Order: sequence, then C-alpha cells, then structure tokens
Amino acid sequence: MVSLLLKKQVRTILEQHGSDSAAFETEQILKWATGFDRLTLTPDSEIDDEKAKTAIDAAKRRVKGEPLQYILGEWDFFGLTFHVGEGVLIPRPETELLVEKTLEELKNGGTVIDLCSGSGCIPIAVSKKSGASCYGIEISEKALEYFKENIILNNVEDSVTPLCGDVLNPSDTLLERLPEKCDIITANPPYLTADDMRELQKEVRHEPEIALFGGTDGLDFYRVIFGKWKKRLAENGEFIVETGDHQAEAIREIMEKEGFSCEIINDYNKIGRFVFGKLAS
Ligand code: GLN
Repeated sequence: MVSLLLKKQVRTILEQHGSDSAAFETEQILKWATGFDRLTLTPDSEIDDEKAKTAIDAAKRRVKGEPLQYILGEWDFFGLTFHVGEGVLIPRPETELLVEKTLEELKNGGTVIDLCSGSGCIPIAVSKKSGASCYGIEISEKALEYFKENIILNNVEDSVTPLCGDVLNPSDTLLERLPEKCDIITANPPYLTADDMRELQKEVRHEPEIALFGGTDGLDFYRVIFGKWKKRLAENGEFIVETGDHQAEAIREIMEKEGFSCEIINDYNKIGRFVFGKLAS
C-alpha cells in the first residue's frame, strides 16, 4: 500500500473517534510503524502489508483510549528517548522544567537522589546532561524494569543507580546503598487527590494508580519526605519537587516547617508546579 493511502486510513480511524490531535498522532504512528520519518516518507512510498497492519492496529488501540506513548513503547523527554508501557508513568513535558532547575543548581556534576523515579526520566536526564552521579528510588518492580532499561538505552550505567524501595519507609538496606550526603533531592511523587482520581482522563486511567494517587488531598508524600530525607542533604542542600494544581502553597508551608527557604516555580501554563527549597544552614 502507498503511504498516502495508509496515512488516510490511520487518520480516518483516529478522527472518527473524535481525536483532536489526529494529525499529530497519525504522523507518530506512521513514523513508528514504517520506520520512515516526515522527511523520508513521501506520499508514494511503498509500505509493506505487515507494517501497514501494524499502523492500523495501533490506531485501533489508540481509539480505545490506550495512551499513544504506551502503544509506541517509547517517548521523548528532555531530548532523550525513554521506554514506557503499562505499569509506568509516562514522562510529562512539564517535568522537564524540574530537570532544568536541577541542572541550573548543580552547575558542575554533584550528587542527586531522586525519589519515586518511575521510568527514571529525572535522574537519567540530569545525569546525562550534567555528569552528576544520580540515585533513583522506585517502589514498583514493574516501573523499575523500565528504569533499568532506560539507563542502558541512554548509556548512563556508570552514573545512574536504580534502587528498589519505599521512600516513605526506607529500609536499612536501601539507605546503605545511598550516598551519606547529596547536593539535591528531586521528586515527582504521586500527588493526585481523591477527587482528581475520580475524574481522570481515559488515557491516564491506563497509568498505574500507585504513581498518581497521593491520598485524599494529594499531599501524603510531601508530609513525609522532607522530614525523612533532609538528613541526606549536604550543607545548603536543596529539595525540588513537582506538585499538583493548587498544591504549591500548602507544600511550601510543609517545607518551611522543615527548615527550608522556598520558592515556587510556575509551569508552562503559569501554574505553581514546583517547590524549590534550600536547607538553611
Ligand atoms: N502529572 C500527572 C498527571 O497529571 C500526575 C503525576 C503525579 O502524580 N506525580 O496525571
């Protein structure tokens, strides 16, 4: 089948189900299924039957609500590629701002501990771009498998250490494997509220609840992590966390009570999305 025809078929499937980003998703699916990209795929490129079927099947899965990222099995974050699929949170574009802030603060190298790492997108991007030595903690075995794959995919085996553990209740074995002190602790913990969980977009329902749900008001993790983990920060160490909509002020208060001086950083939509705290010495 020629590419133009396949493109029309894929786009029609997506549009018939009301996708408002059908054009973008068609490009992504075609590129992934055929191995061509936008520059090499011409309307009359011949696509073999098997690849055409892969593209059509992907479009059919997509309209049933499966996230595009899970269908493609990979997604870009901070200019790097990450494997994703059932069982791991898809890296979000706003989280790139957390990486940017961490890189700004690190300047040259340093040591970072990332809590609730999921796919490993934060520690991998930070380490890849700064050479920092990064440790990531993740409780889900499934997510940890993606984290480990992503370390290999991005060639950061020497500088990123994936660890299985519970950041709310770290075991002695976990603590022993971490550096005594680090410069920055980063976290994008689960922060959705009970109300948010009832109103999830159908795509997000495919993502693991353990990575999303932060207790009734979404703040369960924040109430624990600053107190528990600040001991691992070097003098003038910093904590940078992502937060849910309208949570930044409440989280700033929790952090300030733990002795941090804080700043709220907005996301692309000008919503307070990150709280950055320096441990006052
Ligand atoms: N940003 C995600 C969402 O809105 C939530 C991620 C999280 O809870 N850390 O679906």
